[in-house]
Amino acid sequence: MCSHKKATDMKIQLHLHTSVYSACAKATPDRLMKKLIETGFDAVFITEHNAVWREWEIERLQQRYPDIKIYPGVEITVGQESFQHLLVLGTVDPAFLEMSDEQEILEEARARGHLTILAHPFRWPDGHDMLDRGNYPDAIEYRTSNHGTEEGLQTLQAAERFNLPVVNAGDVHDLDMVDSFWIEAEWEIFSPDDIREIILEGAYTNFMLEGASLPARPHEEVE
Ligand SMILES: [Zn+2]
Ligand SMILES: [Zn+2]
Repeated sequence: MCSHKKATDMKIQLHLHTSVYSACAKATPDRLMKKLIETGFDAVFITEHNAVWREWEIERLQQRYPDIKIYPGVEITVGQESFQHLLVLGTVDPAFLEMSDEQEILEEARARGHLTILAHPFRWPDGHDMLDRGNYPDAIEYRTSNHGTEEGLQTLQAAERFNLPVVNAGDVHDLDMVDSFWIEAEWEIFSPDDIREIILEGAYTNFMLEGASLPARPHEEVE
């Protein structure tokens, strides 16, 4: 793998849970931020299950860890009976928690400029039903700690079929997942919604700990 990292490249964790609002997550925000900084991350989105951090909570954590940009987000369980998980990055608005209709969430997020990512679409059989219904998020997760190689391949096929970008994300629930899957962006982020343009323009590379560099879109060559 080539390692001539440009000065502007930003190592970003798009999907992370903490023990504050995700019952299944084991690590505290403090331990997670320390680990992220240790492993060279420049930015992180905190995406709890069906819960948003309040703005002052994010600000307080940010003051303690000025070496990393800390942004809010949420992972919403979509629909009544399905197991679709949709990430909305950049929001602290609990209004999103009241929405259960995938189309409504996607439209509202888009109207506000927030990036949407369908999390681990092939973790469960109905984890990607919205795609078949023609309701498209901005991107879908490729490799995560909840997606093996096989699910990754299924994601690539879906990405090709629906012409959607794929992103690597940790789906971090504990310290050992912090540095497993991530993206590196070519442009700096100054506000949380900047991530949307980066993903839509393909100005990033998918990474995983094993060192493989993966294409942002399936038809692109791997260097
Ligand atoms: Zn999930
Ligand atoms: Zn998650």
